[in-house]
Amino acid sequence: MTTRISKQKAPGDLLKIVREKADVDLSTCYQCRKCSVGCPVADRVESPPSEIIRRLQLGAGDELLQTGLIWICLSCETCYARCPNKINFAAVIDALRSIAVEKGVARPQGDAPLFNRLFLDTVRSYGRAYDLKAIVKYKLGTGDMKQDMDKFPSMLKKGKMAILPPSGADKGKVKRIFEKAAQNKGTGR
Ligand code: SF4
Ligand code: SF4
Repeated sequence: MTTRISKQKAPGDLLKIVREKADVDLSTCYQCRKCSVGCPVADRVESPPSEIIRRLQLGAGDELLQTGLIWICLSCETCYARCPNKINFAAVIDALRSIAVEKGVARPQGDAPLFNRLFLDTVRSYGRAYDLKAIVKYKLGTGDMKQDMDKFPSMLKKGKMAILPPSGADKGKVKRIFEKAAQNKGTGR
């Protein structure tokens, strides 16, 4: 899908904040669209990666914080790997997501924020992701116990999901990462 992009009159404050948070230089993007072509969820959003960059370059404001990719990005970094200019677009999405939450202007699609929180809770507790616990809590939270349950047996059989919690992680180190992230959030970084 192609979205009409109009140039904003005001200078791009959002671009400045994203540049600082994500530590990326978007001025080198020349719209080759390799990021968008490789993005596995580009066909599900109104603005794929290259278009979000263009909108930022043209001075987009808070309306960009409602774009769907912020909430369904898989953080797979395919966009980053394909970019000839080494633009870390996954970091741009992280920054936009964080700004959207801080500003309270987010309109998350579905229950993605709930899942994100529960997933991170397991990482904080065990030092690694504990998918089963996150999914059980997510289903309790959403009340939708049936969705995708038919896939559960084959995921167990193929070793894609473990019954027991993960072990062996350096929990202290992970805890310090969470503490540092919380401090950075407090300072707006
Ligand atoms: S990190 Fe996000 S934006 Fe980049 S390719 Fe993966 S899903 Fe798409
Ligand atoms: S691959 Fe890189 S240079 Fe090309 S459009 Fe995407 S961000 Fe811009």
